[in-house]
Amino acid sequence: MLNRWVEADELNFIEQHENADKELEKEILGQAYATRLLGAENDLTMHGGGNTSFKTNIVCKDGSEKRALYVKASGTPLSSFMPEHFVVMDLDFLEGLKSLSNFDDETMAREFKNHQLSNSNLLPSIESLMHAFIPARVVDHTHPAALLKIVNRIDGSELLKECFGDELAVIPYAKMGFDLAKAVFEASQKNVGCNGVVMRHHGLIVWGDDPRGVYERTIDIITKAEVFLPRKFVRSIAQPDVEISVDLSMQNYETIKPVMKNSLTHGTFTLLNQPDILELINSSDGKAIVCNPPLTPDYPMYARISLQWADGNINAMPVPAADTFPHAVVHPKIGVLCYGADGQSAKRTADFVHQALSIRRAIFETGGTYESLAEEFILDMQYRGYQQSKKV
Ligand SMILES: [Zn+2]
Repeated sequence: MLNRWVEADELNFIEQHENADKELEKEILGQAYATRLLGAENDLTMHGGGNTSFKTNIVCKDGSEKRALYVKASGTPLSSFMPEHFVVMDLDFLEGLKSLSNFDDETMAREFKNHQLSNSNLLPSIESLMHAFIPARVVDHTHPAALLKIVNRIDGSELLKECFGDELAVIPYAKMGFDLAKAVFEASQKNVGCNGVVMRHHGLIVWGDDPRGVYERTIDIITKAEVFLPRKFVRSIAQPDVEISVDLSMQNYETIKPVMKNSLTHGTFTLLNQPDILELINSSDGKAIVCNPPLTPDYPMYARISLQWADGNINAMPVPAADTFPHAVVHPKIGVLCYGADGQSAKRTADFVHQALSIRRAIFETGGTYESLAEEFILDMQYRGYQQSKKV
C-alpha cells in the first residue's frame, strides 16, 4: 500500500490550521493529517470505517491541567478530516471505566457528553474507549481489506501468525464499544511487545508515540499482508461458460432500466459491472462465493445481510421495497444493481459490495473457507443507534 506521507504536505497542513498554542497544535495537527491519509484509501477506511486519536495534557479554563483524549467524532469523514473533528475527552475518567464489567451504549453516550473537555456538538466515536484504554499517545484504527482476506476465514488466526509472528495480537470479534475496548486492552497486555491488535471480522488497531510512526506502521502491516496472501494462491474461479462483457451487461441494463426506475417508489440504484464482477457472478463458483453473510458489521449497514441473487429473464428483475434499502440484487447477465435512498447511498452500497466480493474471491482463490461475522452480531449492529451515527 502506498505510503502517502509527504513532509512538505504535513507542514503545509499544520501551517494552515495552527493557532497561538503552536507546540501542542503541531502534534495534534500531525494526527489530523495522518487521519486524512488513512481516509484516502478505500481499502483501509471505506466510507468512514476507522478512527484515530491523540493523548496529551491540556490546560482548562480554570487553569487546571487535565489529561485529554482527542478522538475522531462519529460520522465525520476521514479523507477531509479537520482538527475540529476531534472531540476532546477527559482521559482520567475514560481510563477509570476499565475496571467496570459492563457499560451499556446509552450510559456511554451520556457519560461521553458529560466528560467532554471541548465544546463540541459532535459525538465521539463509538470506539473511543478502545483508544482511551490503550496506553499510547497515538492510536490509529482502520478496516483494511488486505487483513479481512486473512482473518475472515477458518484458518485466519494461523495465517495471521504465519504472516506477522508476534508483531500483532489477534482477538475474536467483540461488540463495538465497551466490550471491544476491554478485549483490545487485554490482548495488548497479554501479548508483550506486539505493535497492534487484529480484531477478527472488524479491523486493525496500531499504536505508538508519534503520528507519522503509527501511520507508517499501519501501511507497513497492510503491505506485508498484501504481499503475503497472493503467495497462497491455489485455484482460480471456474471460467464462465458464457462470457458476459461489460458492453453486453450495459445493453441488458439499458433494457431493464426504464422499467426498474418506474417500479421504484423511492430511492435510486447504480450498476456494478466491472469485468472482475461479471467474471465472478458468471462463474459456476460465483453464487456460492457471493451469497454469504457479511464480513464485518459495516457491510449489513450498507449492503444488507446477504445479496439477493436473481437469474432467468432479465425483464423479471425483482425490485426491492424502499424500506429494505440499502439493498443489492445480482443478475449474472447484468451485474449487481445497488439500491439506496439517494445516489450517494447507492454508490456506498456499490463500493461495499465490490470490496466484499473481492475479499471473498481472494479467500476462495487462496484455498480458504470463508467465515462470516457471527449471526448474533449482525442485527445488533445494523439497528444499533450509536453505530448508525458513524454513517458518512
Ligand atoms: Zn472499527
